[in-house]
Amino acid sequence: MAKVYYNGDINEAVLANKKVAIIGYGSQGHAHAQNLRESGVDVIVGLRPGKSWDQAEKDGFDVKPVREASAEADLIMILLPDEYQTAVYKNEIEPELSAGKALAFAHGFNVHFNQIVPPADVDVFLAAPKGPGHLVRRTYEEGAGVPGLIAIYQDVTGQAKDVALAYAKGIGSARAGVLETTFQEETETDLFGEQAVLCGGVSALVKAGFETLIEAGYQPEVAYFECLHELKLIVDLMYEGGLEGMRYSISDTAQWGDFVSGPRVITAETKERMGEVLKDIQTGKFAKGWLLENQLNRPEFTAINASESKHPIEVVGRELRAMMPFVKKQSKKEVTAGAK
Ligand code: NDP
Ligand code: MG
Ligand code: MG
Repeated sequence: MAKVYYNGDINEAVLANKKVAIIGYGSQGHAHAQNLRESGVDVIVGLRPGKSWDQAEKDGFDVKPVREASAEADLIMILLPDEYQTAVYKNEIEPELSAGKALAFAHGFNVHFNQIVPPADVDVFLAAPKGPGHLVRRTYEEGAGVPGLIAIYQDVTGQAKDVALAYAKGIGSARAGVLETTFQEETETDLFGEQAVLCGGVSALVKAGFETLIEAGYQPEVAYFECLHELKLIVDLMYEGGLEGMRYSISDTAQWGDFVSGPRVITAETKERMGEVLKDIQTGKFAKGWLLENQLNRPEFTAINASESKHPIEVVGRELRAMMPFVKKQSKKEVTAGAK
């Protein structure tokens, strides 16, 4: 089994004399900044003027323009949206990357796909929590954590791995378990997971189930509860006890249906399609398409997003959720970004 690092395996003292700049204060940024600060790390936040800047100041951080924060810091963690990182890096971070500093990421996309090419004389590592930023913060406050991955791309100081582990401990990931990976493995598995299973696969499965029921004449409200709302309850059981834990809690009828009908829905053909999705990720085809889509100001993304929000499952869902105030509305980011 792979080595899993926990709090007791990690010496956080390697971060003691370092100033950490968190660049970006969105889903991940706010969580890393606050968790690290509460773990005793010296944190500044780098941003442009705007909503995030105001929020970070309200949360008591020393906030500076990205270039100034990068100049002051020993360790620079880039928590900007992947599609904007390269431009900000080129203009405001790279000029301040003097020898011996450390550059960090929470996702390997830009380094792996050759968008950001760090200078040879800095440490470069990844500290990627395997969960949405709002959970990174919430679980930390509860004394728990979201599991994390670390990877070392460049180690010039001889300390990169110790620093990466200390960082992962500082954001709470070593309470749940930290694994070492590579930029390639993290990037490819993260993209595959969110496309084939967590975000793309689940959304398509839920929509197909909902559509099948309403096309057969059942009420949309019933179909919504059945195919979307209840998913959380099932996933919570899987989170706690794996598939067997979920199957222990459901009825034997449901379990038998799971065994005989699941493989009729997700077939060998579906798995073949998953293989194609993975190929496009591995060959850089997906990355290229997404980077070009952004250069063109997202024509397809915008059109699909608009049509998706009109889908009957969203229309009925908005009405039903309005009647369930206990279904706490998370930040839009968490709802939309899901398992990024
Ligand atoms: P968000 O979109 O939530 O946050 C973006 C932040 O960057 C905002 O604070 C925004 O500030 C700021 N920003 C955007 N453009 C600029 C700019 N030009 N100059 C300065 N600040 C800017 O990003 P995420 O937290 O989702 O993602 C950050 C990284 O973490 C990515 O690499 C992602 O892959 C990775 N990751 C994300 C996960 C998640 O849960 N979302 C999970 C694991 C990894 P403003 O208010 O000014 O726009
Ligand atoms: Mg992910
Ligand atoms: Mg992702």
